[in-house]
Amino acid sequence: MDYPGNLFVVAAPSGAGKSSLVKALMELDSHVKPSISHTTRAPRGQEKNGREYFFVSAAEFDAMIKADGFVEWAEVHGHRYGTSRQAIAQLMDQGSDVVLEIDFQGALSIKRVFANAVTIFILPPSWDELRARLERRGEDAAETIDLRLRNAATEMAQAHHFDFVIINDSFDRALFDLKAIVHAQRLKFAVQRRARAGTFSALNIPS
Ligand code: 5GP
Repeated sequence: MDYPGNLFVVAAPSGAGKSSLVKALMELDSHVKPSISHTTRAPRGQEKNGREYFFVSAAEFDAMIKADGFVEWAEVHGHRYGTSRQAIAQLMDQGSDVVLEIDFQGALSIKRVFANAVTIFILPPSWDELRARLERRGEDAAETIDLRLRNAATEMAQAHHFDFVIINDSFDRALFDLKAIVHAQRLKFAVQRRARAGTFSALNIPS
């Protein structure tokens, strides 16, 4: 499927710093818009319906699957999460650059639907650091942290399917890398031809 803006898909194991990096990117770059996923998990802390997620019941989620409302959906850590066709379509129509912050299964499904999607995998610098970050977050019990670490092994084994890898050792460096990927994507010939059609035609640049 062709896509007028750029579609960035960021995946990472829990604790690698994905959410903070994507949030910082969007603060710096107003052309990058998030797609808000649907989930069956309950809101945490200050989360608001329609901001972090659309929080729906299992029955509502089932109904959306039945109505073919998701481009992809997956079960992650015991809850279901999905990217709605409508959310992506709306952003696409505006020609925005869209960022999806989803799990690796979702990222690989998106790549099958949108072949031009740019997939980015964020890795922690080490196992020790990943565990330390999950412990510092203080959100999870010890068994949950162990489960997240076991899941991280499965997730990281999929990193080779991604276009880009960022090792989040220093936050500033990782953010620089993420910005560089977004920027480089915008400089691709096909993207420039679309974005700067007038200049290309004035310069008689053949496609
Ligand atoms: P959390 O519950 O911590 O917000 O998210 C758990 C995991 O689900 C994260 O890896 C997050 O990126 C992923 N996730 C969030 N939305 C979606 C989605 O729409 N599709 C898929 N496949 N994963 C998602």
